[in-house]
Order: sequence, then structure tokens, then C-alpha cells
Amino acid sequence: MFNPFTGRPVDEGAPVPAAARLGLEPPRFCEQCGRRMIVQIAPDGWWARCSRHGMLDSSLTERR
Ligand SMILES: [Zn+2]
Repeated sequence: MFNPFTGRPVDEGAPVPAAARLGLEPPRFCEQCGRRMIVQIAPDGWWARCSRHGMLDSSLTERR
């Protein structure tokens, strides 16, 4: 796991920031590989694409 804002490896004791979990801010780095992702902010959310792991979007992390 990598921090989606810094791209640094995440230790078990240092979880991903709550803002990312809640989908309030788009991640800038892939959590799975730490690559910088292409990020697009849209009026209704955001998406971010990792060249290896594909696309994430805000609908995946929004609270239901
Ligand atoms: Zn990735």
C-alpha cells in the first residue's frame, strides 16, 4: 500500500488519510504501486488513472 497523496509506502500503523477514504480528495498516486496517476477533477467528482491498475473514480469511495 502507498499513500495516495505522497506516493510513499504506507506502514500498517500509518493508514491512508481519512479524506482519501471518504473520497473527498482525489488520490494523486496509486495505492497499490505508488505510481503517479493521471487525475481529473469533474463537477460531480473525480477520476484517477494508474497506467498499471486502471481507473479509480469518486463513486467508488463515496459514502453510501
Ligand atoms: Zn497502480
